[in-house]
Amino acid sequence: AATWRQRADADLYAAKRRRRGLLPASLDTPEAEELLRAITDGELVLRYQPVVDLGTGALTGVEALVRWQHPERGLLPPSTFLPLAEATGVVDLLGARVLRAACHEVREWQRRTGTTAGVAVNVSGAELASPAYPGRVLRALADSGLSASDLVLEVTETAFAEAPTMTASLAALRAAGVRVAVDDFGTGWSTLSRLDQLPVDVLKLDKSFVDRVVPGEGCTPVVDAVLAMARALDLEVTAEGVETAEQVCALRDAGCDAAQGYHLQRPVPLEDVELSARLRTAA
Ligand code: C2E
Ligand code: MG
Ligand code: MG
Ligand code: MG
Repeated sequence: AATWRQRADADLYAAKRRRRGLLPASLDTPEAEELLRAITDGELVLRYQPVVDLGTGALTGVEALVRWQHPERGLLPPSTFLPLAEATGVVDLLGARVLRAACHEVREWQRRTGTTAGVAVNVSGAELASPAYPGRVLRALADSGLSASDLVLEVTETAFAEAPTMTASLAALRAAGVRVAVDDFGTGWSTLSRLDQLPVDVLKLDKSFVDRVVPGEGCTPVVDAVLAMARALDLEVTAEGVETAEQVCALRDAGCDAAQGYHLQRPVPLEDVELSARLRTAA
């Protein structure tokens, strides 16, 4: 349960934002009030999904994925509350909590297990638009003891397109050692024309491309082309939504660096992540 202090913080935060016209009136709806309460009461929890190196089969990191542990409705996926969080501006507070929790939990997990795996955190465009964002990230790293090189910030292609000024924040964070990934690459407003100028290290190949990798046919020409372009630009590629052994083989043979998907492991509590990830390639 939240302390009076956390509740006061949240109230103050909402009042301030409303005064500054940053929060639409819709924050006053019961749904939005409930979400804000859930965040401050600690009802948001993280699941973690392994990212596996296709060359070695080793676990290279985990992606933090937010869930709402609702007292009556059970464990809710982000599709049920992120749109509201974004529409009301609450996503900024949500993102700050997720970032801190992910850094602390993963640093603690590294200490406990000795793993060198890092963590990827999804960042909304609204968070990145805030000038306070880089400081917030550096503070989360310093407070948790997580090394900057163990943090990846995942930013969607759409967010890159909508908030071009945020590239300065990302460039500053990269200079501090944090890595940046373009999430859902290939689905958004195309960043292709300036991909060579964006402050990024990793492309996360969207599941829709991986879905088209079918048995007996290897990768599609588009996937091969993305991988060739990534090599030319010195970017790593992680395939998302890998559901079959055939997809693992085809992506590995085509030179894709890493993979993530239900075939490897579903998002789970951190203590259930398989540390000695071995590629399950046998059909
Ligand atoms: P994403 O960042 O592209 O994350 C991958 C999504 O695909 C996750 O859904 C994951 O559970 C799902 N997934 C992974 N492997 C497979 C697979 O093999 N098959 C299928 N069908 N799905 C797979 P999830 O957890 O529901 O998250 C959905 C989206 O919500 C994420 O997409 C991300 O954009 C957003 N999100 C999640 N957590 C956060 C967060 O903390 N902050 C923000 N701003 N966005 C978040
Ligand atoms: Mg992601
Ligand atoms: Mg993604
Ligand atoms: Mg996706």
